[in-house]
Amino acid sequence: MSRFLSRRFQEIEPYTPGEQPQDMQYIKLNTNENPYAPSSKVLRAINTEALENLRLYSDPEIKELTSTISEYYGVNPNQVFVGNGSDEILAFAFQAFHDEKQEVCFPEITYGFYQVFSELYQVPNRKIPLTKEFQINIEDYLGCKKNIILANPNAPTGICLPLSDIEEILKSNPEQLVMIDEAYIDFGGESCIPLLKKYDNLLVIQTFSKSRNLAGARIGFAVASKEVIEDLNKIKFSFNPYNVNRLSMVLGKAAMEDEDYFRQCTNEIIHTREKISMGLKTLGFEVLPSKANFIFARHPQIKGCDYFKKLREKGILVRHWADTPITDFVRITIGTYEQMTSFYQVTKQILER
Ligand SMILES: *Cc1c(COP(=O)(O)O)cnc(C)c1O
Repeated sequence: MSRFLSRRFQEIEPYTPGEQPQDMQYIKLNTNENPYAPSSKVLRAINTEALENLRLYSDPEIKELTSTISEYYGVNPNQVFVGNGSDEILAFAFQAFHDEKQEVCFPEITYGFYQVFSELYQVPNRKIPLTKEFQINIEDYLGCKKNIILANPNAPTGICLPLSDIEEILKSNPEQLVMIDEAYIDFGGESCIPLLKKYDNLLVIQTFSKSRNLAGARIGFAVASKEVIEDLNKIKFSFNPYNVNRLSMVLGKAAMEDEDYFRQCTNEIIHTREKISMGLKTLGFEVLPSKANFIFARHPQIKGCDYFKKLREKGILVRHWADTPITDFVRITIGTYEQMTSFYQVTKQILER
């Protein structure tokens, strides 16, 4: 730390991303990326013209990609906001809708960035424990007088709330903004975007990083009322009007237009998830019921950190958190069928020793 850092930031604990080893010799099951390359249509979307146009700034209104997204979800283009990854949108939302009086609440065990943004933007927060089964108890959020942010499915548990629960929360908090982070919704959950027809206190955030094979392109989007989207734009245009680069706009549009490939990849991942979950259960693991592209699992005979280290020695990366009460668990991203077969064999060997 230099002696120049503002006192405001001295205590902040930044987000720790999963490892991104650059030598690529690992089976990488640690950051919930899609194991499949983007569709061939996406690969072909970048031509010489697109590259030559890089001399120009990108469209600050992101018109084309916004229009593709709005058509896909059947909403008005003025209800869509595109960000440089959904993390950027979360950051804008923490800034736009909170202050020392307008607090936010979220589950005690959830996506780590909510806590980080809450500290960075000095938003008071309340963390609500999960049940013993690692579920979100929606009663805790009914009429709670704070803005709410929920990852649905939740991370790192993978457990998904039904639409009816989200609706209860929206209905009971008409004066609060309810932000639903649907980073993993395409792996078996039901998006709450249709609830926007009935509720104007909803902000839905999604990403191209997981289900649309484009983590490296950094594209996220939000769908909400026109007014909420205007507020996000107010922050964006006060910070970085060209927040999404030209190439990513082209890639994102092509990815969203290739519905067949999207279905094929997500179905494959769901299928593999169900298979590996069953396999791990036969080995004695407890596997939480996941609707995401990862599973969260623990075994009574091995500590989470030991299992993590042993997998790593064998060239397999997963994610482990030292925090109680999830320290016994590891989070395993669903890779290709072949990767998961190797993972399963290695796990069996580890348990046999
Ligand atoms: C991966 C993830 C994000 C971030 O996605 P980007 O669009 O890559 O920034 C946001 N929320 C949750 C819950 C995630 O798991």
